[in-house]
Amino acid sequence: MTYVITSLCIGSKDTSCVEVCPVDAIHPAPEDERFDDMEQLFIDPGLCINCDACRTVCPNEAIYARAAVPPEEASSIQRNAAFYA
Ligand code: SF4
Repeated sequence: MTYVITSLCIGSKDTSCVEVCPVDAIHPAPEDERFDDMEQLFIDPGLCINCDACRTVCPNEAIYARAAVPPEEASSIQRNAAFYA
């Protein structure tokens, strides 16, 4: 299992989630080279420990546990994983 950032992040890229993630699983962070190039942030499925911290602080309600991702956002699951492939 992992958490997933959906397209609701696009246009916002609020970084509250980056600040609370205990395992540094959310990128690009503001200090990352690719931050300005990416339209949203992504969660590394190989690092996420399902703590739920990011979901609760996101002002856009863009983050879901993988099993709870709405059907219309299903492609976000692959897009998050692909960022780290
Ligand atoms: S659920 Fe926890 S570990 Fe996973 S990305 Fe969010 S804050 Fe990080």
